Amino acid sequence: MKIAVISDIHANLEALTTALSYIDSLNIKKIICLGDLVGYGPNPNECVELLTERNIPAVMGNHDYAVNNFSGRKYFNSLALTAIRWTDAALTNENKSFLNALPFTMDLLGQTFVHASPLQPEAFHYIFSLNEAVKNFHAFSTPICFIGHTHSPGIFCEDLVTKTVSHGKKFIVNVGSIGQPRSGDARLCFGIFETETFQFEFVKLPYDAETTQKKISAAGLPKQLGDRLLAGV
Ligand code: ZN
Repeated sequence: MKIAVISDIHANLEALTTALSYIDSLNIKKIICLGDLVGYGPNPNECVELLTERNIPAVMGNHDYAVNNFSGRKYFNSLALTAIRWTDAALTNENKSFLNALPFTMDLLGQTFVHASPLQPEAFHYIFSLNEAVKNFHAFSTPICFIGHTHSPGIFCEDLVTKTVSHGKKFIVNVGSIGQPRSGDARLCFGIFETETFQFEFVKLPYDAETTQKKISAAGLPKQLGDRLLAGV
């Protein structure tokens, strides 16, 4: 069975709808979201509601957590902080409650799904490198742990060399970001995983980031948040 693993939507409705249309066109029925549904972008309610309408299971991201928990804003930079205050004011109570109830980890279809790292998921540690990935392999018992959080796609294997997902080894797979790509490529990014063959591929798609940029300005969110979408940083 093919599943789509999406992450870090960040209230970017144009990117989310583009990704979902593409996933639908492939007739993939199962989608899993690795958190950060909101924060930075101009359409938090619409993005949360799109996921709930489609029954897409999701885990808790650090921005989702920070909406309801002030302690979660402690390490936010000023851009993130401004955006989370805006998001807090914009979200309906119902959508806030939905975010508040998201689990930190999920085991589904034989794999593990977490926003940042399987070791202390509620601490939202970053896994940018193999060095940081190494101490996490013992923290999950399935073959693969899918993560997001850094907004940078990547594959880390416990043998420290393998770069392609396959049976028989443990992997941490970062699926990249739908709504705020940061690896220098402005296209939205997510993963498609075949649960039997273990075939995994990244999908990168252009979307109408100019519209999102305009909405960010119109919403009174910091201009940099729109500009960075066009640069993919
Ligand atoms: Zn994020």
